[in-house]
Amino acid sequence: MTEHVTGTGGPADLDRRLADAVERLGHGLRALSQRSARGLGLSPLQQQAVLALSRQPTVRREVSALAAEFDVTTPTMSDAVSALERKGFVARSPGPDGRRRLLTLTEGGQEVARRLEPWDEPLLGALAKVSAADRATTLHSLLQVIADLRRQGVVSVARTCTTCRFFGPDAHPDPVAPHHCHLLRVPLPLADLRTDCPEHQLATA
Ligand code: SF4
Repeated sequence: MTEHVTGTGGPADLDRRLADAVERLGHGLRALSQRSARGLGLSPLQQQAVLALSRQPTVRREVSALAAEFDVTTPTMSDAVSALERKGFVARSPGPDGRRRLLTLTEGGQEVARRLEPWDEPLLGALAKVSAADRATTLHSLLQVIADLRRQGVVSVARTCTTCRFFGPDAHPDPVAPHHCHLLRVPLPLADLRTDCPEHQLATA
């Protein structure tokens, strides 16, 4: 039997190569993010905070929630938000308990968010060249991996179908839509699995 070898001469290992590919993607995305953030005088974390504040519901507009979202400590995110405040892109307003902690983008911040929005277009363009069926399968596989990493405590926030208590895996014979959402009471096509669902509730098991 012919043994396939990697460029370094070791035995082929699909999982290892998949992990390498994901890591390579991570490097590429970090470089893209740094380039777009630098173009507007921001750090990559400041860029992530601005984009999150422009997209996410009010309940997550707090330093601690943003810190969990991006897997950084609260003081690190607090520094990033303070820098954005000094630049006039973020303002704080009182939360339900009266403390000034709800974060909102100012008009200037919203303009910056609009300019940052296309930062990952090269990735979206590359994905668009993959067949629709392969994209759906890839989304499914990645969400399964994220759910496992969430269980291991590697990923701290994931509002995905695969981590949701309403997710019913393999409930239908249709390979295109095998799963079920018990909240919405609909089959879930692989291509429609959610990555940031507002109705998500974390499964405990
Ligand atoms: S509630 Fe949202 S995240 Fe949960 S299974 Fe349904 S669609 Fe997916």
